[in-house]
Amino acid sequence: MAYKTSKINTSSFKNSRSTSVLMIYTGGTLGMVYDSKSKSLVPFDFDEILTNVPELHRLEFELTILTLDKPIDSSNMRPANWIEIARIVYDNFEEFDAFVILHGTDTMAYTASALSFLLENLSKPVILTGAQLPIGIARTDARENLITALEIASAKINGRPVIPEVAIYFNSFLLRGNRAKKKESSQFNAFRSENYPYLAEVGVTIDYNFPFIRPYRTDLPLQLHEHLDENVMILKLFPGIHQNMIHNLFHTNGLKGIVLETYGAGNAPSEDWFLEELKQAIEKGVVIFNVSQCDGGRVLQGTYQTGRKLQEIGVISGSDITTEAAITKMMYLFGKDTSPERVKFSLEKDICGEMSV
Ligand code: ASP
Repeated sequence: MAYKTSKINTSSFKNSRSTSVLMIYTGGTLGMVYDSKSKSLVPFDFDEILTNVPELHRLEFELTILTLDKPIDSSNMRPANWIEIARIVYDNFEEFDAFVILHGTDTMAYTASALSFLLENLSKPVILTGAQLPIGIARTDARENLITALEIASAKINGRPVIPEVAIYFNSFLLRGNRAKKKESSQFNAFRSENYPYLAEVGVTIDYNFPFIRPYRTDLPLQLHEHLDENVMILKLFPGIHQNMIHNLFHTNGLKGIVLETYGAGNAPSEDWFLEELKQAIEKGVVIFNVSQCDGGRVLQGTYQTGRKLQEIGVISGSDITTEAAITKMMYLFGKDTSPERVKFSLEKDICGEMSV
């Protein structure tokens, strides 16, 4: 597919030895304007970016902007969009040193998680960022997020990228992409990562948290995965959940996997009907992945009797994984392999830093 690209005239323009960054604009608040007809925010033509961020001219690396054919509000993101973004990174991997993805905040953590699975053996930065206020507004957070994400993406030490992984930069913190969650819709600090330390903190200087950044490795080539299986669901437990609902959900045609959002350290009701529904689903080949409703801490299925029962019937523990990483990991694993047993085996493993094992 041919995309609209434009090279920004930065201070390193035409210097063949400087770092080159590809910025991919997918949509989101950062690039939105108020449309008086629909009385809502809609994506604007990204060519206007230089009017809003003239600072881009002062960057000391080469910058190319690629705009998706139809920039979208990230609430409309689908797995096909994640595959498209992953393919753009893959196709441009040799030509550019780093990638910045401008994305809506609503589903940014899902996209970051999906990209971490789709881009196997990644050795260059893929930094997602966005904003809570559109770039044209005086008090916007877009400018700082955008410029700092670009600075981080272009950072190298001894010729090696500092962040060779998928990350989210937002409001002074760089987080591992598949550990992040959108936690705030009003304040500027939209993202947090309760179970993994930040990768960098930004103030006057950018302080990298080196022990927690994935090691730089180039021994294996980048591999692109282009299959994600959408026959998966998230089921959040609540006191009073009805057997009928669970029964119908578990008997949905084509259903392959469920991310079960449980209480606390991975606990669920111990009523017979509930465990029986789960057991029957597992026996039919549905994979059930236990993820806690708590943002911090981890699933330990053996701690309480209510959790132990899940373990006994074959529910897989999600340890400290986020729901966003869990659902995309399931889509990725079922996209690669249809055997429930092999999917279960891989779900328990840490694939790209998404969970502690
Ligand atoms: N609805 C917007 C989106 O996710 C919100 C944002 O960008 O912050 O695309």
